[in-house]
Parts: sequence; C-alpha cells; structure tokens
Amino acid sequence: MDFQIHYTDDQERFRIEVRSWLEENIPASMRLPVDPADPTEEQWQFWRGMHRKLGAKGWLHPTYPKEYGGGGLSGEHETIILEEFQRADVARGGNSLSLPPLLVWGTEEQKQKFLVPLLKGEMITWEKLTEPHSGADLASYQSRAVRDGDSWILNGSAVFPGGHETEPSWYYGPMLTDPQAPRHRNLGFFMIPYPAPGMSVQWMNLVHGQDKFNRKAFLFMDDVRVPADHLIGGDHSGWQVVNTTLEQEHGGRGRAFFRDEIAVSIVDYLHQKRGLGKHPGGDPVLQQSAVDVFIDAHLDELFGMRTYSMYMNRQEMSWEGAMNALFARNHRLRNAATARDVMQMYAMLGTHDPLTPHGGVQEVFQRTSFQAQHGAGSRNIAKVVLARRIGISRTKERPAPTPATATKYTV
Ligand SMILES: Cc1cc2nc3c(=O)[nH]c(=O)nc-3n(C[C@H](O)[C@H](O)[C@H](O)COP(=O)(O)OP(=O)(O)OC[C@H]3O[C@@H](n4cnc5c(N)ncnc54)[C@H](O)[C@@H]3O)c2cc1C
Repeated sequence: MDFQIHYTDDQERFRIEVRSWLEENIPASMRLPVDPADPTEEQWQFWRGMHRKLGAKGWLHPTYPKEYGGGGLSGEHETIILEEFQRADVARGGNSLSLPPLLVWGTEEQKQKFLVPLLKGEMITWEKLTEPHSGADLASYQSRAVRDGDSWILNGSAVFPGGHETEPSWYYGPMLTDPQAPRHRNLGFFMIPYPAPGMSVQWMNLVHGQDKFNRKAFLFMDDVRVPADHLIGGDHSGWQVVNTTLEQEHGGRGRAFFRDEIAVSIVDYLHQKRGLGKHPGGDPVLQQSAVDVFIDAHLDELFGMRTYSMYMNRQEMSWEGAMNALFARNHRLRNAATARDVMQMYAMLGTHDPLTPHGGVQEVFQRTSFQAQHGAGSRNIAKVVLARRIGISRTKERPAPTPATATKYTV
C-alpha cells in the first residue's frame, strides 16, 4: 500500500512559492536555534511580526475559512507549508488549540472578536487549564467566575499556562460558574485578556529549560473583570467547550507530516565512527535498538496520517487519536533511551559543546521528552481516554464535537 502523499503539479508550484518566500523573508540570523530556550528577545519580536505577515497571507492557519482570516486552503497545502517551514527551521507559531472551540461554540460576533485576530496573527492565546490542585482531574475546577451585570468577575489561579511579559494575549479555559451544579455542568469557558487589572503572572523555571515561545507561568486572578461576551458557549457548558480543545490536544486531528529527526539521527550516528576508533554501528544490540525505533517512527507517522485523513474526511472517530497520542508519547521515551544507549554521554552534550552530535538536538530531546509525558493531561490520562473510547472503562466516552463534525469547515 502506498502511504505517500502525492501532490499535484499545482501543489508542487505552491511548494516552490512557499520555499522562495521563506528564503526571501527569513534572514539566517532569525532561523530557529536547536534549543527552544535559546531565542533572543529580538528573534521573538521578529517572529511575532512574521506571524502577522503569515496571517495576512493565510499561511498561519492555512485550512481555516477565509471569511474569518484563515487561508481557505486544503490539508495538502497545510502539509506543504509544514514541510517547508520545518525544512527552513522556521517557527510557524500560532496556538491552534484555542481555535476549534471558537469555531464550534462561538457566536458570529465572538468569531469576529476572537477568531479573526487569532487567525490573522494579530493576537495570541495561551491554554489555561491546569490548577495548582488539579491537572489530570480537570473537571474539579475551583477558580470562580461570578456574573456581575454585563461582566464576569474572575478569581483563582492556574499553573503551567504559557505567556510573554509584554505581549497582549488571551488565556482560554474553564472557570467554575455554578458551585451548586453537578460536576461537568458547573463550568463556563472564558477568553481572559492579558494584561488586565487584578491579573499577575510569575514565571516558572522548569528543569527542561525555558521555551521562549511558550514560557510557563503561575497565573493569579484577583477580581479580574471581563465583558460578558468573553464567555464562549453557555454558563454551564464549559466542560463541553473545553473538550473540543482536548479532542485536538489528545490527538484527534492527527498529523499528516511528521519527521522523526531523532530516529533518523540515531541511525545516522551508527553510520559514523565515534570515540577511540570504536564503531558503534557494528554492535548488533545497538543495531536492533536502532531498527526498533526506526520502525516505531514509521508506525507513529502512519498513525498520525490515518487520524489526519479520518479527520479531514469527516469520518467517525473514536479511539484512533488517543491511541496515536499514547503511542507517540511512548515512542518518544523509547527514542530518548535508545539515543542514550547508542550515543552514551554524547547524547547529553549541549548545543554549545563542539563534540555534540547533530548540533545538540539529542540533549534538547533528552530534556523535553520527559516533560512531554506530562503536558495535555499526562500519559496516564491518555490511557484513561483510550480505555473509555474502546469501552473498557467504567465510563464510556464519545468524542467531543470538533469543527469537522459540528461545522461545515474541516480545519
Ligand atoms: C512542560 C509542561 C507544559 C504544560 N503546559 C500546560 C499548558 O500550556 N496549559 C495548562 O493548562 N497546563 C499545562 N501543563 C500542565 C499539565 O497539563 C498537567 O501537568 C497535567 O494535566 C497533570 O496534572 P498535574 O501536574 O496536576 O498532576 P496530577 O493531576 O496531580 O497527577 C499526578 C499523577 O497522577 C496521575 N493520575 C491522576 N489521575 C489519574 C487517573 N485517573 N488515573 C491514572 N493516573 C492518574 C497522573 O498521570 C500523574 O502522573 C503543562 C505541564 C508540563 C509539565
């Protein structure tokens, strides 16, 4: 069976257009460093400007509808953009996880107010889900939203949302609107402007390094007042709205394009001669480990393509995304362990060490593969979701509405 995407001549011409545009517009000094903690403030500012330019071209969120500021392009076009941007070490940016709930649950006025500036790259969003006492059990939310005339007053805190000191943005996530209502019927979903009177942020220092494009923070809200139309969906439908985000975050849109640099670099490393004239590529145990991650990398890619194809063709989806997400997380850990076995101490040398293989990619991967087990509800929660979807959990779970199932758009 042929799993490759075959592009038409028109699409290949589009690829050349994207590639030329990147060559003309992105100076070498603004290409992404290997370590996401390394960009300078000047690079961040350059990229924010570039996101606005990409938004104006419709390349920031290519598949989103033109009438809301997206590109109105096909999934193949999006894949070409992703391929070319990754090839050029360029940050496409834009937090796409806030977009599906706006498209599915927002009123027309709310789409104009929030979706349009996001699709055009004029505003950015940060996901505000985790509270200090509850991450995995998201429904146990405690941060309060109380209606006061034409506004809501917000009090509470969050941990782990991203942010940037000077960049106006919106935090999005649930707040407890009705403490008397039953679980899952007691939340509202809010777009919360930053900066705002009563809001404060403290930056977190995480062991894996500070990703400057998504720096993590503690967020505190002390009588933060937001207009009534910043509530997306009904007063009691926040759980349903946030699940439209989670559907995507938990793998429900798949990935048409995925290049596993680490698996490729492990194989590449075994071709090279390293340290004291010893050739690790001759070691049969290491060869087997490398073949295992190479096969897993291809399985991961195929799972991603299958889910993407199902989503784009509006096919009924159940466990496929969750399984893809879980497999990807497990694969990431195996990849990191195999890189350590094969490269040994060289896998731990940072980007600035002259002996580091592949420009320091390995060391960054060692750090980030562990933190990637925790985001999006942790690996255990991925298993809980999968168990519910295949019907072996106490509770069964159907997929939340997504743009593909609940709107006329497949984005
Ligand atoms: C690098 C990083 C980035 C993040 N980015 C964001 C972000 O942008 N926005 C945001 O809102 N949050 C973010 N998070 C938070 C992340 O979503 C939470 O860490 C995650 O949901 C787990 O919540 P917790 O840390 O409170 O752990 P807890 O909920 O306290 O869980 C602790 C442990 O218990 C396990 N556990 C809990 N319940 C169950 C269960 N029912 N069955 C089996 N095991 C269970 C968990 O898997 C975990 O191992 C990020 C976290 C990290 C590490």
